[in-house]
Amino acid sequence: MKYIGAHVSTSGGVSNAPVNAAEIGARSFALFTRNPSRWRSPVIKDKEAEAFKENCARLSYDASKILPHDSYLINLGAPDAEKLKMSREAFMDEISRCRQLGLTLLNFHPGSHLRESSVEDCLRVISESINLALENSEGVKAVIETTAGQGSNLGYTFEQIAEIIDRVEDKSRVGVCVDTCHTFAAGYDMSTREGYDKTWDDFGRTIGFKYLSALHLNDSKKGAGQKVDRHASLGRGTLGVKFFEMLMQDDRMNNIPIILETPAPEIWKDEIEWLYSLAGGASADSLLLPPEVEGKGSL
Ligand SMILES: [Zn+2]
Ligand SMILES: [Zn+2]
Repeated sequence: MKYIGAHVSTSGGVSNAPVNAAEIGARSFALFTRNPSRWRSPVIKDKEAEAFKENCARLSYDASKILPHDSYLINLGAPDAEKLKMSREAFMDEISRCRQLGLTLLNFHPGSHLRESSVEDCLRVISESINLALENSEGVKAVIETTAGQGSNLGYTFEQIAEIIDRVEDKSRVGVCVDTCHTFAAGYDMSTREGYDKTWDDFGRTIGFKYLSALHLNDSKKGAGQKVDRHASLGRGTLGVKFFEMLMQDDRMNNIPIILETPAPEIWKDEIEWLYSLAGGASADSLLLPPEVEGKGSL
């Protein structure tokens, strides 16, 4: 079964996230457990954490289908010692928040060398950061997101992700989230049947499907290999509708959170419905696309 959802708002408190997800017909969801663009965030009150758990239970959202996303400021591969320390502390805070909310996955961008360290060193530092976080916590899986390779962000090839995982000591607590826009923009052209099969064969060989813990489902405004991260609404970008049909009819994508980060939240409900029709066996050619909206959101 496919568990499709979206990265929903926590405005008014984290306990609103499952309610917002249910309103758009989502079977999974993502959220920020703290302000993603600030170093410091107020603690989550126990009452709010309880309300979150109650809402998840009432609306049937299991922790395995909830994918918190960490703060954008965190760089677990930071070349600067002070920034690395701050990042590692903030990452631990993210993990504690997950624990408080009964969550078991934490999605993050691997890290950037900022042209101040080598790719090799940066990958090593990222693995060390993950090891430190896992050694000092329990119950949460670190889920590495594939990136577009924009700027100096690493994790844009399956080899880089595999190298990070290779140095992680507790492999039962590390996973991968493939962001379809990022991976396509990084150069994995999955828009054709041949390219789709080749990409996932490569993923299976280089990383392994046992690590596939989630998907971020986005179309891409830019072409394959341009290394520019611009999400587009489904069917309104360069990945194209056939890609989403292939993905929704691929059993390897069952039972993991599949999260929309497309730029128009007002059509998420339609996008989710469209995807469930594809998952049910409909052909993308026979379905009307979700309405076209000029989306302003970005993740
Ligand atoms: Zn992300
Ligand atoms: Zn993403």
